[in-house]
Amino acid sequence: MSQPASAALVAACFNPTYASARAAFLQAADRAQARTDVLINDRAKAPNGSTLTTDVATLGPDTADSALVIVSGTHGPEGFVGSAAQIALLDAIARDMPELPVRIVLIHAINPWGFAHISRTTENNVDLNRNFIDWTNPPPENPLYAELHPLLTPQEWTDDVLAQADAARDAWVEQHGLDVFVDVTARGQYSHPQGLHYGGAGREWSNEALETIVARHLRGVKRIAFIDWHTGLGERGEPFFLCFNQPGDAGWQRACDWWGKENIETKGGFDGAQRPNYSGLVFHGVQKFAAPADVTGAVIEFGTKERRIMRRALQIDQYLKFGGPVSDGQRAAMREELLDAFAPLSLEWKRSVLGHAIRIQNQALNGLQGWK
Ligand SMILES: [Zn+2]
Repeated sequence: MSQPASAALVAACFNPTYASARAAFLQAADRAQARTDVLINDRAKAPNGSTLTTDVATLGPDTADSALVIVSGTHGPEGFVGSAAQIALLDAIARDMPELPVRIVLIHAINPWGFAHISRTTENNVDLNRNFIDWTNPPPENPLYAELHPLLTPQEWTDDVLAQADAARDAWVEQHGLDVFVDVTARGQYSHPQGLHYGGAGREWSNEALETIVARHLRGVKRIAFIDWHTGLGERGEPFFLCFNQPGDAGWQRACDWWGKENIETKGGFDGAQRPNYSGLVFHGVQKFAAPADVTGAVIEFGTKERRIMRRALQIDQYLKFGGPVSDGQRAAMREELLDAFAPLSLEWKRSVLGHAIRIQNQALNGLQGWK
């Protein structure tokens, strides 16, 4: 169990916008005497026209053959908690200035467009966590997605249309089962560029940025402990682990040792359905770019709201890009609803998740030091 973080620590680590989170991250990196690297997204801009960047802070000897890698902002607004966790780690290091035997590589806002625009996707409506497939081959097929696409992406935002979409979804689940529904909607699809969990038509800027970061900062590393911070799945305020090492192999066992077998082998998080057969994860990108390094790690989610609200938030995310016209006021209200679904404003929630995140990061750092 973790102690909730204090309100003061929450105030010091959480920020309300991409720009303020970025500034706070760079200031914390400076206090911790980290080296920083800035990657500019030359294909997109922030809503106010300013530059979007992924920022990297590195600590520890750049000859160490073990590295802790922590990513925030793979899914835009989920980055607020990841950013806070990274800032908390930097500030802990700044306080104690420990002699680090490993490298630490903190990647802030790997999807800066989504973070700044409050969208899970990149500038091309791509779910970055489905974009790391082998693009030299045809992308994986997901033929049943086409049946669900219209109800996942309503073209009118009225109570009637949303209720019809809900009813159609329930009927589909009745026919195909919840396992199939969760898999088809979440595994990734490469056929509908305006759809949900669209994996893209090629490598995104963020995908190439990750390769650059690995080449610059993880050269020669043999062992990587990896955390990709997310929100939206699992029980409210509690961590939910999605380990992408093969069940039963040494990496899986290591994750169990670091974070607890009961957390890694949990069946929660998908309303009782089986885990989707995800393709193209950031985890896979790190494995490929850092090969032959051994990568142990997980997507770690923090639960926010009930599934019904999360499904609606995903509909909002698509509607604001591809749906019918909305007034400025309605757009702002919908954006606020989306933000609160993935980055709740509640202080209790922030205290809980930051307390867990600090413990989980420390467990990975300790585990990495014992991994020879
Ligand atoms: Zn996510």
